[in-house]
Amino acid sequence: MSVQENLYEVRRRIEKACERSGRDPKEVTLIAVSKTKPVSMIEEAIAAGQQVFGENRPQELRDKFGCLPAGLKWHMIGHLQKNKIKYVVGRACLIHSIDSVELAQAVNEQAAKCDVIMPVLVEVNAAGEESKFGVSPGETEELIRQIAPLPHIHVNGLMTIAPNVEDPEQNRQYFRLLKQLCIDIAGKNIDNVSMIELSMGMTGDYEVAVEEGATFVRVGTGIFGDRRTGIL
Ligand SMILES: *Cc1c(COP(=O)(O)O)cnc(C)c1O
Repeated sequence: MSVQENLYEVRRRIEKACERSGRDPKEVTLIAVSKTKPVSMIEEAIAAGQQVFGENRPQELRDKFGCLPAGLKWHMIGHLQKNKIKYVVGRACLIHSIDSVELAQAVNEQAAKCDVIMPVLVEVNAAGEESKFGVSPGETEELIRQIAPLPHIHVNGLMTIAPNVEDPEQNRQYFRLLKQLCIDIAGKNIDNVSMIELSMGMTGDYEVAVEEGATFVRVGTGIFGDRRTGIL
């Protein structure tokens, strides 16, 4: 399978999941996760009409941003260290991985320097996995209240990385939880906060995530192939 064929298949499945759940496919943005993959493969995706990409390493995002056409959208989806924020602000259209007040403050500072307002999502560890970053569902509203007043960031919603499971149905509960959390916090009408985006679903479970309300799905392997073997 080529990158192009994979992309068409993923888009088709997203549309099917939208049909099943009575959603408009325009509400769902496919982020092609190109981390570790060469520029040539990203160019294949661009040729197939893909304009939105996700990276998890700041320097890699900076480098790919610099050598690909302007007008593409880059999402920072991975854990972010404070000293690497400078590579991301001014390039990424959205940071998906805010999980502390300190990180939000540091992003705010860099965004102020660049004279931009940086849209962000708060990362939630919905399943409470030890190995994962993110705040617990119970801490999410408090973190959002603390970072909402920062003038150079804007909270747009929530992100989660669900557990690695055999059967994607096992993750439906976590996608539901994230959606409900989003609705609950939206109901609090916190100033400078728009709870409109839900970033959830990866290669193994994006169809379930779409059924449960994802507005961004982040698909890497399903488009570019296995990252360890390079087999499409
Ligand atoms: C790598 C990565 C993805 C994509 O994972 P696949 O299983 O290859 O689709 C999605 N989200 C995050 C945060 C990632 O780091």
